Amino acid sequence: APFTRVDLRMLLKSTLVILAGRLGDGVTVVKDFDPDLPEVAAYAAELNQVWTNLIDNAVAAMGGTGTLTVRTRRDGDNAVVEIRDSGPGIPAEVRNRIFEPFFTTKPVGEGTGLGLDISRRIVVNKHGGDLWVESVPGDTAFVVRLPLNGPRG
Ligand code: ADP
Ligand code: MG
Repeated sequence: APFTRVDLRMLLKSTLVILAGRLGDGVTVVKDFDPDLPEVAAYAAELNQVWTNLIDNAVAAMGGTGTLTVRTRRDGDNAVVEIRDSGPGIPAEVRNRIFEPFFTTKPVGEGTGLGLDISRRIVVNKHGGDLWVESVPGDTAFVVRLPLNGPRG
């Protein structure tokens, strides 16, 4: 996959358009994009997979009703993307396992437990970034940090 200059705002907007059918009427989408965020050296198709995984999880956690917030901001030499949901949150005992491959709390046939494992590998191994979660009941954010200039700075 080609490594190019990616406009995260455009990429996230197109992911949201593709996922619109899955969001349903009960999910309010809030977009908060930093207009001054520079383009990021990245694999667009792979990042698209990350947003899809994170938004899919967020929508599932909210059970079809709530607020999904997609935010970008700059932090020094990094771009930061937050996918935030108003779902129930992730209990502490579950939180330290969610990035393990095949870990899922979803019914058999609904979850593979691979979404976060794959997402973290795309962000960390291919982009030199980080992916982590901040969660309290009613407010869960998956945060992606991407070096603006790619894995080798
Ligand atoms: P899957 O979606 O197939 O279960 P993932 O790796 O994407 O696999 O997620 C693993 C688990 O992490 C989920 O089953 C769920 O328990 C938890 N999880 C992920 N995102 C959220 C979220 N936004 N809110 C609550 N729990 C979440
Ligand atoms: Mg998932």
